[in-house]
Amino acid sequence: MPSPPRRLVALLLLAACDARVDEPSPPIEAPVIAPSLAEPSPPIDPPRLADPEPGPPAAAPPLQVQATPPPLPLVERLLPASDERDRLTRDYRARHEGDGAAGLEITPTIIVLHHTGGGSLDAAWRYFARDRVEAGRKTIASAGALNVAAHYLIDRDGTIVQILPETRFARHCIGLNHLAIGVENIGDGAKFPLTEAQVAANAALVRHLAARYPITHLIGHHEAPRLYDHPYFLERDPKYRTRKGDPGPAFMAAVRARLADHPLAAPPP
Ligand SMILES: [Zn+2]
Repeated sequence: MPSPPRRLVALLLLAACDARVDEPSPPIEAPVIAPSLAEPSPPIDPPRLADPEPGPPAAAPPLQVQATPPPLPLVERLLPASDERDRLTRDYRARHEGDGAAGLEITPTIIVLHHTGGGSLDAAWRYFARDRVEAGRKTIASAGALNVAAHYLIDRDGTIVQILPETRFARHCIGLNHLAIGVENIGDGAKFPLTEAQVAANAALVRHLAARYPITHLIGHHEAPRLYDHPYFLERDPKYRTRKGDPGPAFMAAVRARLADHPLAAPPP
């Protein structure tokens, strides 16, 4: 094969040093924002090789009807699992629901919103990470050694942290734990008032959960007594009731206002 003329070699070398000689500049990519922990990474496109010949025109992507809202930016920080917690959970369920309900799993049907009464997500997580309930909480300690817990914590900036799978039993609302997802907002009604970011995060989480589970009710913990006569309510000890003020009517009204187009917007009768 004859050698190419020197001038062509020089041009080829020049082109190799500067890819922009023959090609338009590649678009500048937007900075990559790290996805949150629970979000699946987007698929990576394979590098595109130049086709020797133009192929058939690409088909237009099919229209997609979005049946469920897109995944929420969730952070997963699960409570430690232990045989002790499993055993205490089974004991609690057998005692309060009957022997037939002693498993670890639930079918989420209600969402109960709460507030923790403190200002720190880390402190709340550590509190819920214990297997056994705090001895100083006499009423609930006398009703079983299983610690209280929840499925989600919502920080004051609206960050949603999942601490248990939704289908795992958690002790957070008397009589409804066997079918309730618990959402604990970091804050209280006075020193750490719940924030607008938390209102928005709660509403988004409710939409997310309702699209994935057969949720029929959304309540604040303070509204639980409205369900004492509901078929959902299951508590064998007629004296085991508590009155809770969290998260309060103003917070629930604000969350429901953001769910005005959603079936769960109406408070329980
Ligand atoms: Zn509560």
